[in-house]
Amino acid sequence: MIKLKNDDQIEGIRASGRILSEIMKELKSQVYPGITTAELDRTARKLIERLGGRAAFLGYMGFPAAICTSVNEAVIHGIPNGRKLRSGDIVSIDCGIEHEGYYADAAVTLPVGTVSPEIGRLLEVTHQSLYLGIEQAKAGNRVNDISRAIYRCVKSRGYGVVRPYCGHGVGLAIHEDPQIPNYVGSGKNPRLKPGMVVAIEPMVNLGGDDVLLLDDEWTVVSGDRSISAHFEHTVAILDHGPEILTPWE
Ligand code: MG
Ligand code: MG
Repeated sequence: MIKLKNDDQIEGIRASGRILSEIMKELKSQVYPGITTAELDRTARKLIERLGGRAAFLGYMGFPAAICTSVNEAVIHGIPNGRKLRSGDIVSIDCGIEHEGYYADAAVTLPVGTVSPEIGRLLEVTHQSLYLGIEQAKAGNRVNDISRAIYRCVKSRGYGVVRPYCGHGVGLAIHEDPQIPNYVGSGKNPRLKPGMVVAIEPMVNLGGDDVLLLDDEWTVVSGDRSISAHFEHTVAILDHGPEILTPWE
């Protein structure tokens, strides 16, 4: 069931999104060759505590960290660890915050040092596809309008689109209805209404569409081990159009 949010609730999610944006901006500035994803997780936990939120992912279905850190061929749900990032890597940082009962969710994929032009383009196009999806997040459209905008952008460059994982409603919980796929399927295709809050999150592979779950039972990697990018914003659908509630840029 899709839960529409009233103005007070949207203001609460907006406040949560502001905290999350601060955290993401700080984490972005700390990605450089030699740092480990475990250090990024420690920084995230300190920031979340200082800013007065709660890490929504920590303990969620047993997840052991405050952020997901997915390096190179990892798509999503990577567990922070002690491996040092190297120049040429990319790392997706995904974080969810709860503040006074309201949830926000965001992700960014960052280059570490200098990446190849091919990987740089993957990051640009995936980020662009997120914005094309957000443009369609307006009352009167349907979920598939968001999905189609993302899919067309990504496929026009020949990239793979991850299908088993997708965006979602968010706000009163970290995952709510509806699902927001990054492709146009035959599933539910609800109409978008003012008061809906959704996390839009394209996951894009340099190679094919397929993904695999690693033995840690969390990390999702591209099936062909090609490099994978992921960007996410929490977006409110309002009378006058979409509002990004996690402006981490
Ligand atoms: Mg999400
Ligand atoms: Mg997320």
